[in-house]
Amino acid sequence: MSTDTRRNRNAKIVATLGPASADRATIEALFHAGADVFRLNFSHGTHEDHKQRLDTIREIERDLGRPISVLLDLQGPKLRVGTFADGPIQLAAGDSFRLDLDRNKAGDKTRASLPHPEIFAALTEGTDLLLDDGRVRLRVERCGADFAETRVINGGPLSDRKGVNVPGVVLPLSALTEKDRKDLDFGLTLGIDWIALSFVQRPEDIREIKEIVKGRAGICAKLEKPAAILSLDEIVAETDAVMVARGDLGVEMPAEQVPAIQKRIVRACRKAGKPVIVATQMLESMVSAPVPTRAEASDVATAIYDGADAVMLSAESASGKYPVEAVSMMNSIITQTEADPHYREAIEASHSAPRADLADAIGCAMRRVAGLLHVAATVAYTSSGYSALRMARERPEAPIIGMTPRLATARRLALVWGVHSVLCNEVESVPEMSDLACQTAVKEGFGEAGQTIVISAGMPFGTSGTTNLLRIAQI
Ligand code: PGA
Ligand code: MN
Repeated sequence: MSTDTRRNRNAKIVATLGPASADRATIEALFHAGADVFRLNFSHGTHEDHKQRLDTIREIERDLGRPISVLLDLQGPKLRVGTFADGPIQLAAGDSFRLDLDRNKAGDKTRASLPHPEIFAALTEGTDLLLDDGRVRLRVERCGADFAETRVINGGPLSDRKGVNVPGVVLPLSALTEKDRKDLDFGLTLGIDWIALSFVQRPEDIREIKEIVKGRAGICAKLEKPAAILSLDEIVAETDAVMVARGDLGVEMPAEQVPAIQKRIVRACRKAGKPVIVATQMLESMVSAPVPTRAEASDVATAIYDGADAVMLSAESASGKYPVEAVSMMNSIITQTEADPHYREAIEASHSAPRADLADAIGCAMRRVAGLLHVAATVAYTSSGYSALRMARERPEAPIIGMTPRLATARRLALVWGVHSVLCNEVESVPEMSDLACQTAVKEGFGEAGQTIVISAGMPFGTSGTTNLLRIAQI
């Protein structure tokens, strides 16, 4: 097991794969640059593309001996216009433009198809439709069950299959479309670690997908609809992880409201101990430039100071010109930010009290012990990963080694703040576990002879939800 693959930071990096990062050399370079989790974005690409990328990741994982997490992102009920007969059209403010259900008729300067009856059912006179990530705004003047006559408020180009958002309107749509169900089936057969559910509106959306997944992957709720923010706590309670999906969120509501909502979501997740990813446009200018803007560097740092578990790259790593540089830059920003003495203060100031139960009592005690004794590492010997999650929730100063005999757990934990996950053998006794923890700390580059580590586990071993043991050991 190589020590050069240990990260010297707490927050994790999620990198989206795409045409710019499909070959083994690039994916491996992304991993070495700092990517901990790879996102397969099912809004684009074929099943064949995604399978190939997953196979490559698993090969790299095997060769390097480090668990790598894979997040399958389902497209969800993303609404899109149809195609245009003669390429992109140009809309000017004041133009009239018609949308209808006629999916067989290609669009032109005066109309486009919008093959979603649910939208027309929810429209009323005066409703605004935002197209292409909010670049084009149309206002409904007249509408019926299968059409809408609109006036262009903000003009711009419009091309094939651009996205449509209807801010503020709760659409009677399930977060799982037919395509999502097929993609989900496919992903579960391949074996992925996390599933991201797009456009979550209600806690029931999470319950619905959980019934299908049955624990075979963790569920990550993408918060990108105003309705989801209204039931934030219930959704956080139901899901395994959360993504602050700022791309669609910033179209569905005014961009100036997104920063406060981002911070609110991060706080809610940290309180609940659920991993939270801050996503979209973090280093956007690196799609075409080798360096980010100062504002982008500051945006990544803000998420780190807030204590987010992970920050994400989308187009930067999937289709940009500088995928590896973008991951590298993110890695540097995280490392530098976490080295700022104010970082610790910020993390502690935003820490909320643990629950009154065994796992939290142990996690909280470990943080105290780690701080008092300046231990080399904290080790969570965990089967389901739960105790490592509760320990990460404490945001201890020492690194957390998530030692687990389950590969699925090791992979899933790669998304979590501060956790270095390691696959190990089952242990049968406390001395055996303690020895293994010491050996692992040394082998993984976290400690050396004479140093102290603190270990948590649950007896009897192998049963999840039994965290009841804290042991201090000297290597
Ligand atoms: P997407 O989700 O990239 O799948 O749209 C993230 C976001 O909307 O920010
Ligand atoms: Mn989105």
